[in-house]
Amino acid sequence: MTTQNVKILVLDDEPFMRRLLVRILDNLGYITDSICDNGHAALELIDSPDDCPNLILLDINMPVMDGLEFLRRLVDRRYFGSVILVSGEDERMRQAAEKLAKAHKITVLGHLHKPVSPEGLAKLIETWQPPKQLLPRAARKIYAPAEISAAIANGELVNYYQPKVRISDGHVVGVETLVRWRHPQDGLIFPDQFIGIAEVNGLIDDLTQVVLTDALAQNKLWQEAGIMLQVAINLSMDSLISLDFMEMLVGVTARSGVPPQMVEFEVTETRLMEDLRTPLEMLSRLRLKRFRLSIDDFGIGNSTLAQLRDLPFDELKIDQSFVRGAWHDEKLRAMFDSSLGLAKQLGMEAVAEGVEEQADWDFVHKSECNIAQGYFIAKPMPAADLPAWIQSWQMDFPASNRHL
Ligand code: C2E
Ligand code: CA
Ligand code: CA
Repeated sequence: MTTQNVKILVLDDEPFMRRLLVRILDNLGYITDSICDNGHAALELIDSPDDCPNLILLDINMPVMDGLEFLRRLVDRRYFGSVILVSGEDERMRQAAEKLAKAHKITVLGHLHKPVSPEGLAKLIETWQPPKQLLPRAARKIYAPAEISAAIANGELVNYYQPKVRISDGHVVGVETLVRWRHPQDGLIFPDQFIGIAEVNGLIDDLTQVVLTDALAQNKLWQEAGIMLQVAINLSMDSLISLDFMEMLVGVTARSGVPPQMVEFEVTETRLMEDLRTPLEMLSRLRLKRFRLSIDDFGIGNSTLAQLRDLPFDELKIDQSFVRGAWHDEKLRAMFDSSLGLAKQLGMEAVAEGVEEQADWDFVHKSECNIAQGYFIAKPMPAADLPAWIQSWQMDFPASNRHL
């Protein structure tokens, strides 16, 4: 069913209505992703690639920014998701709002009169389709290498951390470091907008050095606070051809005081297979120095068994595209199972990436997979948020597991 991927935002100024809508959605089996009481807060979510909803339940009558103005702002942003209009106004008014939205090419699934009936809402949500274009904004800025280089030098890169948890008991085993660029004008920029440019312009080694140095300093602070975590860093294959780079990794780690056993390097499978000789040597040497190695995005490349056997990996991360939704899709499940089987045969730990909702969690929980990572557990977060998150995760863990 396509509706499984729906990310719902409830936008209504009345607390009672918000609670009611969330409850109805819950009863219908939908998770409400976000709740806002005003249009400005909702637009902030829509501007964030991680939080952008693809279905908005929109109240037309709101103080400050009313629903019609909100729709106009959606048009400005080229919002590609869907909208369901909710209002206490009469049918004509609701139809007018729907027409306005459609005239601006916003997908309106329909309108509902308050108080909303569960049947009415269910009928409309069932017509929801995934947005054809995934990005909320069509035109994305392309940054010049000099801008990225300056960002590295000026300390504008910040690390976010996404937890990795042991599936059997929910224990937080580590975090993956995911870099963001806090751009002085453009806000938070995601890695897909600058990693590739850094790679082709010879900036990636410097970038990795900054990311690693910060991540290890942070890890040391966590250790001192009694939080023991493995820290994973993404490496670019472009870096694995230079001896200097490897010496940098070893040197930065030694100076940080974090033992290499707690540091894990993730390399993606597709890139891994281009020309193996030098990277293989580098990876083997890192492994000899007791760093952990992880093979990332597994399943979308075409590594052969022999190639894998020769690579000294500790961990295999099953690509998100084979995890998310595998519980209801046989083909995905086959890919998932065979990746998992391979990891097991070669003695690697298996990580399921992209565990996005309860059904994904239940699925991996029933499998032999060791570790899970994904939005269902937590989104990548700034370092400062992690201790509190760990605490609440540990408290809630039995609850998140009880649906089994
Ligand atoms: P990746 O290594 O595969 O990292 C996982 C990506 O999936 C992250 O995106 C993360 O936010 C996202 N993700 C995690 N859980 C879920 C989920 O449940 N659902 C969905 N839809 N997505 C999920 P992000 O942070 O945008 O990073 C994108 C890619 O950029 C990373 O993919 C990695 O290849 C690269 N990257 C990030 N930081 C670095 C870095 O420091 N160095 C290098 N070389 N590459 C980096
Ligand atoms: Ca990764
Ligand atoms: Ca990955």
